[in-house]
Amino acid sequence: MRDCAICHRLKHIASDPALVHEFAHSYLLLGNHQYYAGYCILLYKKHVRELHELDAETQAALNRELMISTRAVVKAFEPWKMNHACLGNRDQHIHWHIIPRYESEADRHYDPWKHAVEFDQWLVPDAQKTELAAKLKQHILQDIERMKA
Ligand SMILES: [Zn+2]
Repeated sequence: MRDCAICHRLKHIASDPALVHEFAHSYLLLGNHQYYAGYCILLYKKHVRELHELDAETQAALNRELMISTRAVVKAFEPWKMNHACLGNRDQHIHWHIIPRYESEADRHYDPWKHAVEFDQWLVPDAQKTELAAKLKQHILQDIERMKA
């Protein structure tokens, strides 16, 4: 869709330094900020506004991709807890926020946007994105191999 920021990003996804992995239905990318170390986003490949608009098979496949992504974040960053959010009020294109939470956070029992005003202080340079993406990719490939076995 013409005015969709996610569709626009998907057009240049191959050269995106935040790209972790291409799944059949989605792309996993490192989040722009790393206020939560390991924060990622999973972008559905097609412009669809709502999860319930997908057929059941696609919903299940997308969920598998979300779980593989989540396990990779857990293995790479060893968080205390995982948060998932699929909102899309601003960018109305199916995407998930995959947010690791840490015991060291004073506000770990609250939603992950409580400190959103601070996120911009945690933007990471492209080189660091590429490095973190590679770390996550390794865990994804291991997970996919293990499922094949
Ligand atoms: Zn879109």
